[in-house]
Amino acid sequence: MAERTSIGWTRSTWNPWIGCSRTGPGCDHCYAERMDARGIFGGVTHWGAGVPRYRTSTANWNQVYRWNKVAARTGEFWPVFTASQADIFDNEVPEVWREDFWQLIRDCPHLTFQIVTKRIGNVARMLPPDWGSGYPNVWLIATIVTQAEADRDLGKLLSVPARLHGLSMEPLLERVRIPIEQLIKLGWVIVGGESGPGARIMLTEWAQDLLKQCDFAGVPFFLKQLGGATNKRADLDQIPPDLRRREIPHVV
Ligand code: SF4
Repeated sequence: MAERTSIGWTRSTWNPWIGCSRTGPGCDHCYAERMDARGIFGGVTHWGAGVPRYRTSTANWNQVYRWNKVAARTGEFWPVFTASQADIFDNEVPEVWREDFWQLIRDCPHLTFQIVTKRIGNVARMLPPDWGSGYPNVWLIATIVTQAEADRDLGKLLSVPARLHGLSMEPLLERVRIPIEQLIKLGWVIVGGESGPGARIMLTEWAQDLLKQCDFAGVPFFLKQLGGATNKRADLDQIPPDLRRREIPHVV
């Protein structure tokens, strides 16, 4: 959780709670699970089905209100990656926590919450009653890392109303083709390889292929990093020139 994160596609990271369960191949080397396993959140771990999650402190929630005040004063675009060490649409999360979370979102209209989820199938039944056509300050981003996940989840993502629908394709594990009729409805595609212990390789061609698809459809594309054992950093100079694309949607 940081006001200024090194993640290039956002400004801040924030977690209303900590904990999750693995949901697919993209979770195999989850860094958040490794962090949690160190017992830094209350001395116990918070991963797996049936395991209680850890709600973060009031001070941590209050800092979001402070960011909102600053953004209101300066008028700057302030995206917040929500949640990097949890999933908003996790079945294990008490409903009252989610209600508090939605209240915070409503109270902070000057921030843009980039909600990233691997549980897109849960979203429709976990939204607040006044969601309507989507809160204006929420971007809904589904993580999809294989073709099977794309086939299964893209329709679910697009069936939920949202200010912006996006994809986080990290760690990209294979070549993925997105049907053009679905791709043109997306507002953003983020692609990245895996880094860290045991990182699986992302072939550069897979990212280039997605870039071509996005260009054809006119969808903003953001290459976060190539990842892998020899390419851990997100430095642009390590990335082939044609892939040095870091677009962030302009949503008004
Ligand atoms: S959904 Fe995200 S936080 Fe949860 S286990 Fe998978 S990679 Fe980790």
